[in-house]
Amino acid sequence: MQPRLVAEREEQAVSRADAPRRLVILGATGSIGRSTADVIEGAPGGFVVEAVAGGRDGAALARMAIRLGARFAAVSDPSAYADLKAGLAGHAIEAAAGDEAVELAALRESDLVVAAISGAAGVGPTHAALAAGRKVALANKECLVCAGDLFMRTAAQAGTQILPMDSEHNAIFQALGANTADEVEEMILTASGGPFRTWSAERIAAATPDQALAHPNWSMGPKVTIDSATLMNKGLELIEAHHIFGIPAKKLGVLVHPQSIVHGLVSFADGAVVAGLACPDMKVPIAHCLGYPARVPTAARRLDLAAIATLSFEKPDFERFPALGVAMAALEQGGALPTVLNAANEIAVEAFLAGRIGFMDIARIVEACCKAAARDSLGRTPQSVVEALDVDRSSRERARGLVG
Ligand code: MG
Repeated sequence: MQPRLVAEREEQAVSRADAPRRLVILGATGSIGRSTADVIEGAPGGFVVEAVAGGRDGAALARMAIRLGARFAAVSDPSAYADLKAGLAGHAIEAAAGDEAVELAALRESDLVVAAISGAAGVGPTHAALAAGRKVALANKECLVCAGDLFMRTAAQAGTQILPMDSEHNAIFQALGANTADEVEEMILTASGGPFRTWSAERIAAATPDQALAHPNWSMGPKVTIDSATLMNKGLELIEAHHIFGIPAKKLGVLVHPQSIVHGLVSFADGAVVAGLACPDMKVPIAHCLGYPARVPTAARRLDLAAIATLSFEKPDFERFPALGVAMAALEQGGALPTVLNAANEIAVEAFLAGRIGFMDIARIVEACCKAAARDSLGRTPQSVVEALDVDRSSRERARGLVG
């Protein structure tokens, strides 16, 4: 009797492993969402999509839901509901709108939630998914920047795991393998240096949104592309790495690497350095998370090191790219400062894209907000999503005031 039961359980386990993985995709119409759809389509039979969620574009979300055969589609902006509903006409796909609807999508039965909403808007639904014990593939770095302690604690309490989908963290996650944080001497995230890597300070100060949006290596959404140009993105990623790998700030480093081939490096106590390499294509880290621990084939460009011939590395320039230093200071000071940093940065980037402030004003406004927050002793680490979003809201107001 006993052995047969065990055999049955093993059989079930095997069939579960072979069964398609059920996914929820939050931020399905954004850059990561679209690349996720490409990976899913490249692995027929590997995945079923339970739910998709998007922000404001109801028609695009409807197309994505139909493309992926999702059962449920949720758009956060209620005014986009009519477009979503019209786009889904003739399809048996449930539709809903509002922040609660996005949270419902996050909580649908699934094996993995892809958290790819851009910005602080992703914090609530992603946290809800983790609290419900869902495994989360995290592309929404703001979750860990805004409320990293809370997210890691919630994941541990719910007995679930956060898989890093950000390319640098994914490379480091793969390089870490079975080793633990205390065996690590240093973790290095690489940065392409963005479009202004070789520009003079004067030229950078006069940079336009179009120039900042022309990233040399990566094709990404506008927010992260501007963050790459200021190097704020790398600062946010250091905060993200601190939380996801439980590594102290002093063991984290940044290397500018213009080719974007080496994404992250881990040096160990024995002097060995393990690096993660791939062509700069988000399908690679996305596929790693979707299949983990199995490998999902993708059509991503293959790495031809002989053709690339040279990989170069340089130290970041904190003078021309002050945002990186501002972010590192927020990480070292801790408390709510990373939350303030993130909120102020979102407002400043928006204002820059709208042509209301100059490129160098982004770091200036973010730094001013962090300093003001430190003066107001807005120090306490957010203990809940509500607290984190409160700090987020007040910091946005402060940043808006500085934008003028
Ligand atoms: Mg990244």
